[in-house]
Amino acid sequence: MALCNRVTIVGLGLIGGSLGMAIRRRRLAREVVGVSRQSSRLVQARRRGAIDRGSTLAEEAVRDATVVILATPVDAIVPSARRIARFMRPGSLLTDVGSTKASIVLSLERTLPPGIAFVGAHPLTGSEQQGIAAARADLFDESVCIVTATRWTNRRALRFLTRLWKPLVHRVVVMDPQAHDRLLAQVSHLPHLVAFCLVGATNHGALALAPQSFLDATRVAKSDPDLWDDILLSNRAALLRAIDRFDRRWHGLRTHLVHRDRAALRRFLSRAQSLRHALHER
Ligand code: NAP
Repeated sequence: MALCNRVTIVGLGLIGGSLGMAIRRRRLAREVVGVSRQSSRLVQARRRGAIDRGSTLAEEAVRDATVVILATPVDAIVPSARRIARFMRPGSLLTDVGSTKASIVLSLERTLPPGIAFVGAHPLTGSEQQGIAAARADLFDESVCIVTATRWTNRRALRFLTRLWKPLVHRVVVMDPQAHDRLLAQVSHLPHLVAFCLVGATNHGALALAPQSFLDATRVAKSDPDLWDDILLSNRAALLRAIDRFDRRWHGLRTHLVHRDRAALRRFLSRAQSLRHALHER
């Protein structure tokens, strides 16, 4: 059942395109409008079923939208929001899908024109691929979506955004943006850094022989640096704390090896193995 008249998605890449497909598939809006800087992308998005119609003019496309979703790289979210919010209808909702939340939410929640509510969101899914060509209607099916809440969040807008995400994902979790960034630094941002570092620290001769285990452990090092430098720098403080925590573990592990401490090594590996087994595979 349609929850609203028009959803406008700004940025028709992997996430924006997939979201358009998923919203259309579930008929959550009567119309999905896409905004891209290139008209060729709009044609592609329409052909792939991600949008009903598109525009290269965000001002025009957001005018009668009930919800506007920003799906651009993290650094473009706040400037885009400021630019388009004044063209939105009072009573409408502005949201995003950026991979970091504190700086975006703190910049936007209390600074938009009266009547425009901002609520942040982050679907915890995706891939190392990018662009509309990689978009999929089922990308969000098994995932968790985090929706942010602070003491300034408009409760009606929060409830509405939660209702919009619920049919698209396995579970919606509401949390404050700092908690989001602290947790995501550990389970997403640091693992990406480790993968990039692992590839960078491996010599060419070894890379030529890389077995499947190496490919599995470093898949996310194929991610787009343009997307990831924004993410890493905008969550720098939480990420540095996660790196320090990792460093302590890493040095502990190294010490067990230096001292040929088989018992300590076994304890270290066994603990990680049982934690990993307990994780839900999707
Ligand atoms: P993407 O495939 O590269 O798509 C991003 C889109 O944003 C591009 O197609 C482009 O659309 C537009 N864009 C790029 N640079 C821009 C700029 N400077 N100003 C305005 N628009 C710009 O990236 P994505 O993976 O969909 O990521 C989009 C957002 O989702 C990011 O904030 C990311 O942190 C978040 N996210 C990503 C993942 C993931 O796994 N990839 C998961 C969850 C959340 P046009 O060229 O058509 O204008």
